[in-house]
Amino acid sequence: MDFSALTKKNIRSLRPYKAEEIPCTAKLDANESPYCIGSKLAADTLKKLNRYPDPDAKLLKAAIAKDLKVAKENIILGNGSDELIYYLIVTFGGPVLFPVPTFSMYGIISQALDEKFVGIPLDKDFDLDTDKMLAAVKKYRPRLIFLSSPNNPTGNCFSADRILKIIGASKGIVVVDEAYQPFSSEKGFLPLLGDYANLTIMRTLSKIGFAALRTGFMVADSGLIEEVNKVRLPFNLNSLSQTIALEAFKQKQAVGRAVRSIVSERDRMIDAMTEMNGVIPYPSEANFILFRVKNADLIYKKLLRSGVLVRNLSGTVKNALRVTVGTPDENNMFIKSLERASRRN
Ligand code: PMP
Repeated sequence: MDFSALTKKNIRSLRPYKAEEIPCTAKLDANESPYCIGSKLAADTLKKLNRYPDPDAKLLKAAIAKDLKVAKENIILGNGSDELIYYLIVTFGGPVLFPVPTFSMYGIISQALDEKFVGIPLDKDFDLDTDKMLAAVKKYRPRLIFLSSPNNPTGNCFSADRILKIIGASKGIVVVDEAYQPFSSEKGFLPLLGDYANLTIMRTLSKIGFAALRTGFMVADSGLIEEVNKVRLPFNLNSLSQTIALEAFKQKQAVGRAVRSIVSERDRMIDAMTEMNGVIPYPSEANFILFRVKNADLIYKKLLRSGVLVRNLSGTVKNALRVTVGTPDENNMFIKSLERASRRN
């Protein structure tokens, strides 16, 4: 039976998000942390596996509220921030606007939900093109604008004044996706939350050592949270994730240490890559580095042959690869392999 004939038209041409499992020694392709921190799994949770989780994740929400100094009414939790992107688009619909290149799920989810979406190219420095973005805000009147800052896959933060201009011009909701904020030297937009009712901040535990938990959260005006809560599936955050995520907030020092090590390794990797012939690393405020080479497909294969898995982004940015910062050993392996691969190129 040809099920695709039954599939809705907008979904037929959609390609699923690719998260392949490719065997390798150094897994540096998915922007995860190489450090596993929270593992003191609370035995009490295992004793209650027959019960549904707390539908409101009260303890975890209270920990986030305390950590970020916001009220719990301003928080909604998701099974990864992916789920929150989904909920936002289900709740408010399109048009959805975002710069490109950026995180692919904004477009994939919009298409899956049959909502119009518009991608506006970033400028040559991968910053927001203010004129084009403002023109698009005027033309399309987007209900949702997604700004990933630091941006995946380019690694840079967008200029704060450009983000503010877009927030000011938009009658719709502006989501600043701060998945990589912990690695950035910039403060982020949380302190400005009270100043703009249409500003929403999204964060995740995935990049700081807890990708397996699938736990993300959004901070916004309580009215906005109330609307999104209408479409949230009951019990969307399972008990084990709630319990271990709570550990993440208790172990802030260990998380902070891991983040600092990733940041200093990132800078060391950029320095080493800058010295290599035919390799151009872009500045990064995240836990990954976008870099250009002469022949991305070839270098990707050569790196993989030496056991290092990176992300090939040549379909998005010409001849670009993205490497996630790993442990010092993994990073040394990457540096050596890239040096060898680019020398012979
Ligand atoms: N936003 C951005 C910018 C991302 O890069 C990612 C992960 N690749 C996510 C959101 C989703 O993160 P998660 O669903 O794991 O919380």
